[in-house]
Amino acid sequence: MKRGGIPPFHLAVLISVLQKMLNFKQTISVLFIILFLLSFIKEINEIRYSSNEIPVYRVVIDPGHGGLSLLPRSRHGDRYDSISEKYLSNYYAGAKYRGIEERIFVYSIAEKVTDILNLTLTEKNFNSFKTVLKKFSTDEPDRIIIKTFLSRGKSIEKSCSRDCEDPNAEFRLYDYVDKYRKRKEGRISFINKLNPHLLVSLHCDLQAPVYYRGMNPVIVAPYSLMARGLDYLKGSEKGRDFFFKSLYRDWFPESVRRTGFKWFLKDTSVYFSGYPVGNNLKIQKNRFSGYRYNMVNWRYKDPEKWEITAVKHPQNTRYSDDIRRFNPEGDFWDREKSVYESYRRDGGIEGFGGDNLYACSEIIRYILFSLYLSGDDHKKQKPGKPYISVWSLPILVNAVTAYIELGYLKNKRDRYLFIKKQDEIAEGIAAGIYSLFSGLKPVEKNFQYLPKGKKLDLDKYDLNDGKSYFNIVSSIPE
Ligand SMILES: [Zn+2]
Repeated sequence: MKRGGIPPFHLAVLISVLQKMLNFKQTISVLFIILFLLSFIKEINEIRYSSNEIPVYRVVIDPGHGGLSLLPRSRHGDRYDSISEKYLSNYYAGAKYRGIEERIFVYSIAEKVTDILNLTLTEKNFNSFKTVLKKFSTDEPDRIIIKTFLSRGKSIEKSCSRDCEDPNAEFRLYDYVDKYRKRKEGRISFINKLNPHLLVSLHCDLQAPVYYRGMNPVIVAPYSLMARGLDYLKGSEKGRDFFFKSLYRDWFPESVRRTGFKWFLKDTSVYFSGYPVGNNLKIQKNRFSGYRYNMVNWRYKDPEKWEITAVKHPQNTRYSDDIRRFNPEGDFWDREKSVYESYRRDGGIEGFGGDNLYACSEIIRYILFSLYLSGDDHKKQKPGKPYISVWSLPILVNAVTAYIELGYLKNKRDRYLFIKKQDEIAEGIAAGIYSLFSGLKPVEKNFQYLPKGKKLDLDKYDLNDGKSYFNIVSSIPE
């Protein structure tokens, strides 16, 4: 008997036994109780059996920040470097303006997205989920299960008292050590442990140059471009066309102190060696920013005690402190060169930026569409151009990553959306995530940023042995 229920023969025996022991009324009551309990078992069985047949996807929603910008860095910072045994950066609590805090409202939106996606977990609630999707599409949606996780708990609301030891502990991006010098996992390691197919990281900023305004994808350049940058720094690549003719030439300049190309070279140097170069392209040895892929616990970390070799910075290895003699070898660099990373970061439906850019763009279009459908249309509500650089989060996970800047706190329109339109934003994100897994053709509307409604091709991330690129990320290689 696969599912809950009783064959008629057993039922007849049960009734005759009960009749011998009890009167008619009691028999009826006992039978009712049994049938009532069986209906529960049946429901549980349905959930169990259906999850074997229905496609299951895992998504992590990462609301940015969460902790407090506290000093000193030695106690409250992030990016713990196990060579110097120090935090290399201050903890940044996120953007804040006129009482609105990024970390608070992105968490609130992330919770709402989770609540909506949790409706896919049972057959019964999937009908309510369909009601949400109906706003966006007239198609009958396919039944899928989306297991949703938040990357962190609620933000710290107030500053902590003097005796509160390490309030940023659970909000750090990178691994760290506690007061007993025991290594603890940060948020990136936690995300990878969940083996997600998709990671959605939600942020906003204080302000941006005019040409970035809107909702922006944040993407990392593919290895092929970074490798050409390394060749340029080594002197084996003389021309600059590889950069200026590339689709990634619109590199994010952190300030106007350097040109976009000089920022690209600095970021290239940090990406490979951990050391930046100055405007004169000389390595700045006093500004080491660490081996980021060794700051998280995942498959591609160097073997234990790597610090002993790294601190000597042997030339022609991955630890060289001379960019001209840097050699990208080892598990992490093999991964960077792999076809799976090029799927995530290059080419794809948008023409560049790979699945990461498509996922960002599609979720942004669904958010804008959701606002439009709720009667909120405004010329300032538009997709902004992508930020392109080598940020940690999209590099240090295997999941397709939609890292999104939802807007800017100094923009009045954005502040209105962040506070008054959280439900619409959350529904747009949830519909976008569903569409990325299953495809959802948007209703024909005269809307200029209509989502494409095409699902991601995740099959290309399947490995030979029945595993996928997504579920090997946290395991130890055999
Ligand atoms: Zn942020």
